[in-house]
Amino acid sequence: MSDLMARRAALLGPNVPTFYDDPVQIVRGEGVWLYDAEGRRYLDCYNNVAHLGHCHPRVVAAIAQQSARLNTHSRYLHEGILDYGERLVAKFGHGLSQMLMTCTGSEANDVALRMAQAVTGKTGLIATDNTYHGNTTAVAQLSTRRPPIGGYPPHVRRVPAPDSLAPLGGSTEAQAAAFAANVARAIEELEAAGHGFAGLMLCPIFANEGMPGLDPGFLDATVAVVHRAGGLVLCDEVQPGFGRLGSHWWGHERLDFAPDVVTLGKPMGNGHPVAAVIARPDIMAAFRNAFGYFNTFAGNPVSCAAASAVLDVIEEEGLVENARDVGAYALDLLSALRHPLIADIRGLGFFFAIEFAREGVPDGAFCGRVVEAAKARGILLGRVGRAQHILKMRPPMPFSRANAERLAETLDQILREMPA
Ligand code: PMP
Repeated sequence: MSDLMARRAALLGPNVPTFYDDPVQIVRGEGVWLYDAEGRRYLDCYNNVAHLGHCHPRVVAAIAQQSARLNTHSRYLHEGILDYGERLVAKFGHGLSQMLMTCTGSEANDVALRMAQAVTGKTGLIATDNTYHGNTTAVAQLSTRRPPIGGYPPHVRRVPAPDSLAPLGGSTEAQAAAFAANVARAIEELEAAGHGFAGLMLCPIFANEGMPGLDPGFLDATVAVVHRAGGLVLCDEVQPGFGRLGSHWWGHERLDFAPDVVTLGKPMGNGHPVAAVIARPDIMAAFRNAFGYFNTFAGNPVSCAAASAVLDVIEEEGLVENARDVGAYALDLLSALRHPLIADIRGLGFFFAIEFAREGVPDGAFCGRVVEAAKARGILLGRVGRAQHILKMRPPMPFSRANAERLAETLDQILREMPA
């Protein structure tokens, strides 16, 4: 292990950080389990990429079979991208009937930003504080964890994300109005500065911001503000998409609003790098005219075979229903946890958050200790939020009631033993 750490440090430098004080060497995955080099197994409650469970045999077989037959780019005619894409866009309403494939969520979001600029002829963009939309130059400028060199570019404005601890304005309704008002103010600023307003990018459940509990309709006023100003609502579904919320296939359906553009990634290929942008034909046409698009690897037959197998398994194994039923069961168990620093416990399907705060002040250090302690007991968790003070749990979709009991019991033991 220390040999691997030394080789990483020498070769990869500081840019591929590891999880945990004492990192884990994972050598194998199966279903909800990951196995380390010593044969120890961990319950994966964090990785939303392995949506169907690690190394799902259907996806493995689809990749292997298509790789053995043909893999090439999307400029030749091939049924794979069509069979997949027709199935995928059929899962969307609001006229979102066309697809453009990418390899990563970052690329998908980059394209979405340019779609907004193409449609409006303007450059101004708005995103929320404490968000993350990826790592191209354009989308990295929306992320707030580290200010870009030279400061945030003037065509990007940030608005405070909804936050359970520091409400934008009391009740959920007042929060929603405050969020819309902040977006309206940012639009005015962009227009006054001469950039004009192209679009607002957001994750419909604000996953990286900490997944505050929001009611359907929360974004209605904001969407109206954006559309009145002629801009586009760019909905980053990289985290909530593909049924994770249990109630719906997509986060915007749960919040009940109509986005102009949707981006997909992470779970789409169960680990194979495949991502996409879904938009209306008029938006696709404007993007084509303004920018043109070619992506060497995106939409290749192997990616489409992997992504098709993901849809097959979600549907055949009833995984959205599982996220709904076992998600509700798990949330009941987690809601019974008690600790003086727990400020809130919430969940949607297989997306759970436990927020830690000390007298209203986020406690990221405590949350970090819980993550480390869980790892020591064989459970992998993550954290998010403006102070990294929120436990983030997104297990693979076949997560069972027994898995949920193990998660809740382990957290209960940890919290009992961990003084405030
Ligand atoms: N959007 C969101 C909401 C994300 O969480 C991420 C990745 N964490 C991305 C986009 C970027 O996706 P990728 O890493 O595939 O580029």
